[in-house]
Amino acid sequence: MSATYRDALRAALLYLLLSVLWVSLSGFALNSFFDDSAEALHWQTINGYIWLILSAGIIFIARTRLFRCLGIGAQLRERSADRERLRQAAAVFDCTREGVLVTNDKGLIVHVNRAFMQITGYQREEVMGQQPSLFKSGRHPASFYQAMFKTLNSVGEWSGEIWNRRKSGEIYPQWQTIRIVRDDDGRVSQYVAVFSDISAIKNSENELTHLAHHDPLTDLPNRLLFTDRAEQAVASAQVHKRGCALLVIDLDHFKMINDSLGHTVGDQMLKAVAERLLAMFGPGITLARLGGDEFAVLAEGCPQLVHAAALAQRIIDGFKEAFVIDGNQLFINASVGISLFPSDALSAAQLLRNADAALFKAKNAGRDSYALYTEELTAQAQQRVETAFELRRALEQDELRVYYQPVHDLKTSRLIGVEALVRWEHPLRGLVSPAEFIPIAERTGLIAEIDAWVMQQACQQMCQWQQSGVVLSFVAVNVSARLFARRELYQQVAQVLRDTGLNPAFLELEVTESAVMDDPEVALEQMHRLRELGVRLAIDDFGTGYSSLLRLKRLPVQKLKIDQGFVAGLPWDDDDDVAIVRVIIALAKSMGMQVHAEGIEQVEQASFLLEHDCDLGQGYWFARPMPAAQLDWARAPLIG
Ligand code: C2E
Ligand code: MG
Ligand code: MG
Repeated sequence: MSATYRDALRAALLYLLLSVLWVSLSGFALNSFFDDSAEALHWQTINGYIWLILSAGIIFIARTRLFRCLGIGAQLRERSADRERLRQAAAVFDCTREGVLVTNDKGLIVHVNRAFMQITGYQREEVMGQQPSLFKSGRHPASFYQAMFKTLNSVGEWSGEIWNRRKSGEIYPQWQTIRIVRDDDGRVSQYVAVFSDISAIKNSENELTHLAHHDPLTDLPNRLLFTDRAEQAVASAQVHKRGCALLVIDLDHFKMINDSLGHTVGDQMLKAVAERLLAMFGPGITLARLGGDEFAVLAEGCPQLVHAAALAQRIIDGFKEAFVIDGNQLFINASVGISLFPSDALSAAQLLRNADAALFKAKNAGRDSYALYTEELTAQAQQRVETAFELRRALEQDELRVYYQPVHDLKTSRLIGVEALVRWEHPLRGLVSPAEFIPIAERTGLIAEIDAWVMQQACQQMCQWQQSGVVLSFVAVNVSARLFARRELYQQVAQVLRDTGLNPAFLELEVTESAVMDDPEVALEQMHRLRELGVRLAIDDFGTGYSSLLRLKRLPVQKLKIDQGFVAGLPWDDDDDVAIVRVIIALAKSMGMQVHAEGIEQVEQASFLLEHDCDLGQGYWFARPMPAAQLDWARAPLIG
């Protein structure tokens, strides 16, 4: 028998006992009632009162015992306390500044408070029955939510920063705590999320970070941020095996502006300089103000010193135009120090120090100029930048010429083709060799224009020769490695052939062996496309580019040109050259290609090549490169 039952039984017995007592007393009281003497009447009244008091007491005690025993009283008290607690919770729930959201066990929203509506902009009816994913910002990856639910399910609670979306579409940060509420059986009954909008805190945090990393006058990155970016750039350049450049810019005689016109004008000047510099650079370049009148530039993906030098020149040229401050025209120059990764330094700090040292040199050299960390580099870079600049002008002003060098059939000695070789008729320096300017044109990207122009000229010339009855098997044109790697080459060649009307079979394109071997798969594809046009293909400077024989066999090439370096050692001077030339000839023959030797300067070299079955020859012994008008078609020197 359970304790509750025992208590109930006891309470019932007590109730019974008290009831019996009550009945007995009532009987006694009733007896006295029917006795109607005066004394009895007196007693009747007293008994009546006692009876009434006792009855009330008995009923009260019995009822209380019975109720207590059945637990009804406690339940009633608890219920009223619960009601009070709920009233308090509802008041807190609605008054709190934090947003509160409650979902049921299926994750559907069942409650939100007033702060929730204020923060999110949604009304209660708009979100009831919806899933909280309605507020997703799209800023977090799926893995973020997976980790959140994992913690929630294992620990029962998750707290953290989360970006959500308001009804207006604005994305904002929240600090959110989600808790699981379980029922008496441990089953999930609700999820309660409490959150606060931390955008204001975030904004002030961001403002503080911005202030710590930027120069207040120009709003450019300061030295701290710049050094950090330089370290990152160096690390990335190391991984990707790229170069990068760090330039330090200092305004010449800036102190004079400050001293003579005052600091307010000085500040305005610095702001104007920052704006002008910023407008000069595209993506991949970070501009910073290191302090005072010193600025710095970090150029990622700046592989060659020629690029850095060109950038420095651009900066210096950018100062040629006056700055207008308060309606006054002010002129100022700048000096630039350049340091390169990896050639000058391997760390960001060292790069900065070296660029500073280079800047010092530039200042000493008379300001308004740039200097590289090492002197010979400065001279070289200046020369190259000048050449690149002049070369652009040369193209515009028509200073380039095409020379033609005859190619002879070694068996008949007959002139059967020509190679087009570009020359630069410099107004001061005279004829400049392509060996000097082609590498610069390749680096500055001008090569595509030059090659296209030479090709156009050569094809036109070939058409003229054909019209005047000159019979030639081919005109050969050199294609630079840079151009050969581009897909547009195909269109360019097709365009030239269309424009000039030359039969493609008469055009031969020479590609160096190294250009082919740089990326053999791309080369193979490019060559097949060019072959489809009907042009001939030759590999120039063969023997210098470490060709894989297997790859060579797959190339749709009609000719190998033995590099002049091997021909120079023929026929007696160098046994290795002799052996190599023999192998190249045998190789070409075995693959069904023509062999063409260049750089033949002596008749003995020509005889050796003829004896060893080489097909074609070119070199000073036959003729030097010359303008088209000077070619002697009848010349056929006899190889004795
Ligand atoms: P390359 O295509 O191998 O041209 C042969 C070079 O050897 C020419 O030099 C030619 O003048 C020179 N040469 C010819 N016979 C002899 C000889 O008997 N002895 C010696 N020592 N040299 C001889 P050039 O014209 O100075 O051209 C040099 C290189 O410049 C060319 O080598 C070619 O790679 C490049 N080049 C020339 N013109 C162009 C062009 O229009 N476009 C491109 N992309 N490159 C060109
Ligand atoms: Mg060539
Ligand atoms: Mg060559």
